[in-house]
Amino acid sequence: MTYNVKEIFYSIQGEGYHTGRPAIFCRFTGCNLWNGLEKDREVAKCNFCDTDFVGTNGDGGNKFLNEVDLVKEIVSYWPNSSKPFVVLTGGEPMLQVDIKLVKALKKYKCEIAIETNGTINVPNEIDWICVSPKAGNPLKQVYGDELKLVYPQKNVAPDIYEKYSFKNFSLQPMDGTLKVHNTQLALEYCKNNPKWKISLQTHKIIGVR
Ligand code: SF4
Repeated sequence: MTYNVKEIFYSIQGEGYHTGRPAIFCRFTGCNLWNGLEKDREVAKCNFCDTDFVGTNGDGGNKFLNEVDLVKEIVSYWPNSSKPFVVLTGGEPMLQVDIKLVKALKKYKCEIAIETNGTINVPNEIDWICVSPKAGNPLKQVYGDELKLVYPQKNVAPDIYEKYSFKNFSLQPMDGTLKVHNTQLALEYCKNNPKWKISLQTHKIIGVR
C-alpha cells in the first residue's frame, strides 16, 4: 500500500496527556470530515480545523510505497537508541494506518500514539489512543486512553462522552478569534466537572510545531 504523508517532524507533543514529551509526528494526508479546501470549509462535516493536511509537500512528506520505507524514514528522526515515541496524526490517520504499518513500527521498537477523530476503529496494538470527537459525526472508537474534546462545539455537551471507556477526559479550548472566551468556558466547565482536565495547545504558546 502507498502511504501519503503530508509531513514528518520531530518536536514535542504540544497538547493532551503527553504534553511536553518529545515525539516524532507523522501527519497523514487527507481527512474523511473535510477535504482541506477553504472554499469547502463551511459545508464540511468538521469546519474548525487548524491543520494543513493536503498533499505530500510538507517537510519530510512523501508518497511511501510500503510500510518499511515509511517506518525507516520515521525512526530516522529519533535522536538516540531509546524507544522512539511516534504520534500518528493527520488529517485522519485511520484512513491509511493499517496493521502492516503498526507491526512495522513495533518491529522498530516504537511506542505508538494516534490522534483520531474516532469515526474509524483503531487497531488495539496502538499504545495510546487519543480520540477527538467532532460534533455530529458518530464515534466508532469508543474506548482508549484519552478523549480530547475541542470546546465548545455546537450542540455538544461534554458529558455525553463520559459513558465511553477512556482513561482521561480533557477539554481543549477552540482556537480562533474567540480563543480567550473559549478558554474561560473550558476552565469553568472543568472546575464544575472535575472528571475533565484542560488541554492547552502549548506548542502554539512556545512557538514550535
Ligand atoms: S477531523 Fe481533525 S483533521 Fe479532519 S477536518 Fe476536523 S480537525 Fe481537521
